[in-house]
Amino acid sequence: MSCEDIQESLSLYCDDGLAPEARASCYQHLEVCPVCRAHLAELRSIRQSLAMLPRPSVPADLVPAINHALIAEAAARDVRSHVTFADVISELLWPRVTRYAFSSVASLLLFASVFLALRPQLIALNEAVRAFDAALTMSDSIDPSARYDINRPISPESYSALRAPFNAESPSLNPSGALASLGRSSVATTNGRRPDADDMMVVADVFSNGAASLADVMRAPRDPRMLEDFQKALRQDAAFVPAELDRRPGTMRVVYSVHRVDVHDRNY
Ligand SMILES: [Zn+2]
Repeated sequence: MSCEDIQESLSLYCDDGLAPEARASCYQHLEVCPVCRAHLAELRSIRQSLAMLPRPSVPADLVPAINHALIAEAAARDVRSHVTFADVISELLWPRVTRYAFSSVASLLLFASVFLALRPQLIALNEAVRAFDAALTMSDSIDPSARYDINRPISPESYSALRAPFNAESPSLNPSGALASLGRSSVATTNGRRPDADDMMVVADVFSNGAASLADVMRAPRDPRMLEDFQKALRQDAAFVPAELDRRPGTMRVVYSVHRVDVHDRNY
């Protein structure tokens, strides 16, 4: 047996509560182990000190107080024996009912507070869905001949109809405008330039007639001629379709990000 095992059973050993075999092995260990012997001595001295403590005296009024409480309890039980069956049922049910009522009131309050907190978002979501539906039905009601037809050149009307309902937030490019043709013509002139020389990010104001003007350059292209061409194309003619075709506000500020994408020509 280890010292730990012995020290755990020392209390029982003191009280003579161990089985004979355990007691014998404990005794044998104590014979040879000074550490456990010291523990036993300490335990014995603690017990002795505890035994020498004065006995606490019973307060003089304890017995009359207990008797009084017992008489009161008996009287209460006597009264309770006269209660009706309905009283018993209501007494049984009341704590449960109040508990359930409390938890359902708590859940109602929680639901109400969550609902109130989310209400503006729900209303906004509902309005967005309605606006989207309205835009979809509007685009359905557009004359089908104005819609995109692969066999006909893209017109400002067909292009803005094609972009519904997004054109209320971002103006549609005028497909026959200078800005649109700039994209096409720059392909021919990019040969020999650095691959990302044309990349730029600009802010432009788009007016109700579709004309636009450069408001700010957030990232200038490495080739300054590109920016000049862009600015010229914005000023030259209506770069975007008129506001009424897009159903967009009169003047809008847009961020234009231009990236060059290489498309390798092949003979098809
Ligand atoms: Zn030991």
